[in-house]
Amino acid sequence: MNTQQQTDAAVAVPAEPLCWICKKNKADSGEHKTKRSDLLAVLGKVSQKQPFFYSDTKRKNHVVGSLDAKILKSPVRICAHCNNARTQPHDRAWERMSDRLRSRRLMIGRWVRCNRIFGYFTKREMLAVHMYFLKLFGCMIAEAKANGHEVPIDLDVFSNAIMSGRPHPEVHLQFGRYDLGIGRSDLHCWKTEPGGSVLGGWLYQLEPIAVSVLYVQAGKFEERRDLWHPHSRTSAKRFLVADFMYSKRALADVPEQSASGLGGEAGEGGQGL
Ligand SMILES: [Zn+2]
Repeated sequence: MNTQQQTDAAVAVPAEPLCWICKKNKADSGEHKTKRSDLLAVLGKVSQKQPFFYSDTKRKNHVVGSLDAKILKSPVRICAHCNNARTQPHDRAWERMSDRLRSRRLMIGRWVRCNRIFGYFTKREMLAVHMYFLKLFGCMIAEAKANGHEVPIDLDVFSNAIMSGRPHPEVHLQFGRYDLGIGRSDLHCWKTEPGGSVLGGWLYQLEPIAVSVLYVQAGKFEERRDLWHPHSRTSAKRFLVADFMYSKRALADVPEQSASGLGGEAGEGGQGL
């Protein structure tokens, strides 16, 4: 190959993207947007003859005939090591928590002690659940940025949290009851007025439950008791069951709440990505 050909090749072939978590290996692994075990648990066997409906950012009620369908995987990738070995304890922790949440009758507005979900190693397991949603959230941010959207959330902090095993100080979770199917909401970002603090959020939807995953820029809502965080002073050992019963609300003709669960407080100037 002469110099000219080498130059052409360098121009024609874009650099292969690196895994956003370790920033070392090539990104060669797709992460499920909704955990495969969650889909299997709520849907049972799925086939072309017994399809189900999946909704995400781009498509609502997309007919899916396989749990390995492309639409179920995040297009922006991480490396196989990060997706498997590094984050496997996180996946397992969520798998167990998801199972526990779906198998009990959650009462909206009631507190659930985390040791009722994990009888042993409660703190460690709940931290792993936090880490699982950091992986999903990071993949969404990476995807939005790759698609040219301005997302005012620093992906490096997500990477550092997963690599170090320490929680992301600005990512909070809400667990609640949900009644509108299976899928993933848009990522929404807001800036508060006044103050200009960044808020971002999306909903992991797995009827009959959902998890609201929230980015809350430091200095604002840390002490909200209804947001769960591993280091929260008020809500580290328990969480409040949130109300994501949107179809019931629509019937009652109540104005639609933000999918983030922050409701009106964060709704000003909302912008979908
Ligand atoms: Zn990696």
